[in-house]
Amino acid sequence: MQEASSDRVIVFDTTLRDGEQAPGASMGLEQKLRVARALTALGVDVLEAGFPAASPGDHEAVAAVARHIEGPIICALARAHRDDIDSVTQALGPAQRKRCHVFLATSPIHRQFKLNLSSEEVVRRAVDAIRHARESFEDVEYSAEDAARTEPDFLCEVVERVIEAGATTINIPDTVGYAIPAQFAGLIVHLRKRVRGIDRIVLSVHCHNDLGLAVANTLAAVEAGARQVECTVNGIGERAGNCSLEEVVMALRTRADHFQLRTGVRTQELCAASRAVAKACGFAVARNKAVVGQNAFAHEAGIHQHGVLSNALTYEIMRPEDVGFESSQLVLGKHSGRHLLRHRLEQLGIRLDDAQFERAFAEVKRLADHKKELHDGDVVAVVEGVLHGASGLQWELLGVSTASGAGGLATAAVTLRSRDGSEVQDAACGQSPLEAVFRSIERITGTAARVREYQVGGTNGDSEVRIEVQHRDRTYSGTAHAADVLEGSARAFVEIVNRIAASVGSRREASGSEART
Ligand SMILES: [Zn+2]
Repeated sequence: MQEASSDRVIVFDTTLRDGEQAPGASMGLEQKLRVARALTALGVDVLEAGFPAASPGDHEAVAAVARHIEGPIICALARAHRDDIDSVTQALGPAQRKRCHVFLATSPIHRQFKLNLSSEEVVRRAVDAIRHARESFEDVEYSAEDAARTEPDFLCEVVERVIEAGATTINIPDTVGYAIPAQFAGLIVHLRKRVRGIDRIVLSVHCHNDLGLAVANTLAAVEAGARQVECTVNGIGERAGNCSLEEVVMALRTRADHFQLRTGVRTQELCAASRAVAKACGFAVARNKAVVGQNAFAHEAGIHQHGVLSNALTYEIMRPEDVGFESSQLVLGKHSGRHLLRHRLEQLGIRLDDAQFERAFAEVKRLADHKKELHDGDVVAVVEGVLHGASGLQWELLGVSTASGAGGLATAAVTLRSRDGSEVQDAACGQSPLEAVFRSIERITGTAARVREYQVGGTNGDSEVRIEVQHRDRTYSGTAHAADVLEGSARAFVEIVNRIAASVGSRREASGSEART
């Protein structure tokens, strides 16, 4: 069997067609073109751009992709109707390389309840449609919709007849995500054994993720001889989604020792494609998503961090740069160990003796207990406190009140106590009470900080406020609990201001002492 003996797996991306069918994922024309460009940079072999007969907007999007995108084979979907196929022909007109993708359901439940056709009628319609498509296309794919729930012998018959009619790729979809790996692989083996002419075409699979098995089923089918995988970036698609492109590609690559197969995907573009798709359809990628999630290469546990610092392979099977991440992210949190702190201090150019280091480590652990992540600015402040003996906090919040009225202007008044015991009050205006509070604190303390992130969580009347700010070249974070969100925000901001004061003060002292010697 020619194709199955090939070691090249064709990657067919359907993010713009099946992916876009995910409830709430619809994309506009500009967004679709942006995704199509990301997919081209990724190096997918076939790019399914849409279903022209579904709507005028879909027709227009397919035509735009056909006009502007060069590289992959541009594909569009049609039901087994002449009109649908003609609209694919029209929409794909300008494309240099093109494919018509015809589908017709074969399972008994679809034949009876959706199509109301006998099995003979299904075969006749499929053959007729493929012949019609071949009048305009060299490259014609047939999908036996709901193949995974079709009687295997009937599936063999349909497939054999559409190959005779001229189909060049045969797709076996698990439309409803019902298959399990060993059984699905068995179906592929059955088709390869029983269908005459199957060695002349490319056998493809298209799996849905209703049982979380889309990638597993796809890989099982590939092992059984399928040589095209249909998938979507981030696994978006109808219901629980489709086989995820990044997962199937990285499984084939990472376990090339097992599969002995390759794809044409430029894997270092995976993260960029993932972000482009997330942005275009508005679906955020889960932090723990395999391959492209924010945590995919993040380690917090001390033992893991130690391992990754000495040799990344201890806890990483893929290199982050191979999928487009800059590097492994070692998160300084409560599970981190001494190795990471030492590594981070080195990066920051800070040298401590053993006793200082132990004190800094204990302080970092204490701080990490009530913060989720520590940023560089926080670490520096801790170290400065240890080195220069922070004698109490620079500022303490005594009171905050706000008022807002018509015209969108808010005011805040804040009282802080300074380290020397004096109380300082000031007030400021802002677009919101929160902004007015931050401005008041900035005025009193003389410290300006740009808020990068602001989060409020918590339950039962206790709010947890988390703020991340940028001050010069460092990032600092503050966390506070309070019954009142504005009060919590003020506390978290004062915490940050204190930390900035600690690092800035010590910088000044350090340069001052240098000047004296
Ligand atoms: Zn599908």
